[in-house]
Amino acid sequence: MQNRLSGRPKMPQRPPKERIKDFEEVPLGLPEWAAVEEAKRCLQCKKPQCVQGCPVEIDIPGFLKLVAEGRFEDAIAKIKEKNSLPAICGRVCPQETQCEEKCVLGKKGQPIAIGYLERFVADYEREKGIRPPSAPSWNGHRVAVIGSGPAGLTCAGDLAKMGYQVTIFEALHAPGGVLVYGIPEFRLPKSIVAQEVDYVRSLGVEIELSCVVGKTLTIDDLREEGYEAFFIGTGAGLPYFLNIPGENLNGIYSANEFLTRTNLMKAYLFPEFDTPVKIGRRVAVIGGGNVAMDAARCALRLGAEEVCLVYRRTKKEMPARVEEVERAEEEGVNCIILTNPVRFIGNDNGWVTGIECIQMELGEPDESGRRRPVPIPGSEFVIPIDTVVVAIGQGPNPLLLETIKGLALNKKGYIAADPQTGATSLPGVFAGGDIVTGAATVISAMGAGKRAARSIDLYLKDPNKFPQWR
Ligand SMILES: Cc1cc2nc3c(=O)[nH]c(=O)nc-3n(C[C@H](O)[C@H](O)[C@H](O)COP(=O)(O)OP(=O)(O)OC[C@H]3O[C@@H](n4cnc5c(N)ncnc54)[C@H](O)[C@@H]3O)c2cc1C
Ligand code: SF4
Repeated sequence: MQNRLSGRPKMPQRPPKERIKDFEEVPLGLPEWAAVEEAKRCLQCKKPQCVQGCPVEIDIPGFLKLVAEGRFEDAIAKIKEKNSLPAICGRVCPQETQCEEKCVLGKKGQPIAIGYLERFVADYEREKGIRPPSAPSWNGHRVAVIGSGPAGLTCAGDLAKMGYQVTIFEALHAPGGVLVYGIPEFRLPKSIVAQEVDYVRSLGVEIELSCVVGKTLTIDDLREEGYEAFFIGTGAGLPYFLNIPGENLNGIYSANEFLTRTNLMKAYLFPEFDTPVKIGRRVAVIGGGNVAMDAARCALRLGAEEVCLVYRRTKKEMPARVEEVERAEEEGVNCIILTNPVRFIGNDNGWVTGIECIQMELGEPDESGRRRPVPIPGSEFVIPIDTVVVAIGQGPNPLLLETIKGLALNKKGYIAADPQTGATSLPGVFAGGDIVTGAATVISAMGAGKRAARSIDLYLKDPNKFPQWR
């Protein structure tokens, strides 16, 4: 058996032909010897740039040194000083644009595989049994967190570690936000999300499910119940549509509905679970982000014979993680680039049968810094199709926001909050994650939850530290 690495290790993964037949996890994790060898490559920099690239401030060289010494339990304890969701982050964080992008070894060679090692120690601990944390005594204050995605879980966990009594209120019947309803099982097994949520619970956090704040109860009700501060982490779960003719035809899903049916409601196990999802022989997914990749790969596993991804720029501009694009292509997803839908075509029964598209070329950069796609006149063509999934982004759900009088929103309808403290326009109300930034990443939502926890602590100890609310 090989026991020496020649550079950064490759993640072992299941072969494409096998994995597209089920929803089991695709990457298999590093073997122990490879994890130790890789951690030994770390230079233990005095001023570690990698830490600056980590929104939750993990002591990366500290945990890598422990891995290199084979002290895996101590390594996971070091990570958990800052991050209560390491098995999740080790799987879905875009490390290539965060900690690993900053690693000095990346300047001349390959950066340390920090994400793979985070996953390794988190999995090691899970197999051995997760050590329960010691709970601090209650400091007398109660905080309400709205939404149980990565932002809410992090804020709640950090506050609990400081001695606050925290309750998370979650609209869905399962905690985890996008981690349970969006990201598929083959990328992030739900048993792992459940275990990390249980870890947050073991810190003393209570989670009330099926409670839509704004409908079931309001922030004012919660204030009357004795909650003194609030963190809103309700995410961006409202799907955007293309707004082109034919979009109401049967067989056209928003990615949100398609992925929620498939993942949270377990449509891939129908009829054992009672939510179906109708899938045709030929499926088109519109978009180029992680959501689009997930939808395309789910469609394959649900039995589609051909799955294509229709994207208006080139592969270089796709917002999805590079390794997820590679995996989708290995599995047979066909990326149709520089192409934009202009209308959907249907049959007499009202079902979609095709997408009329127009070819695009790249023009000058737009406000996102990417070159703007421009239609090529007269280049229209039709892709025959049975099912479409629209995965072009999400926005803020207005339900809660409309019930909070005086909560300032920005131009796009997201909560206006101070990026450093998470403070909103209302005293004692903080916000963070996708509901403030728009659809972003798990780790940036966690970073916002962490910063808000610090601010809530500061606020409850001395409200004068927030002069804007006086
Ligand atoms: C399909 C998909 C794949 C993705 N893949 C990746 C990836 O690989 N890597 C990555 O880093 N990021 C990925 N992302 C983005 C990432 O998941 C999000 O940026 C992140 O989950 C945002 O966290 P959040 O806590 O702000 O919100 P969410 O995760 O959206 O959680 C918000 C929670 O609030 C609840 N809620 C909403 N309104 C109310 C209310 N009124 N009352 C009570 N509860 C409410 C919701 O039900 C939800 O559970 C992906 C997103 C999607 C959709
Ligand atoms: S920057 Fe890279 S080499 Fe330096 S401490 Fe961080 S992981 Fe190790």
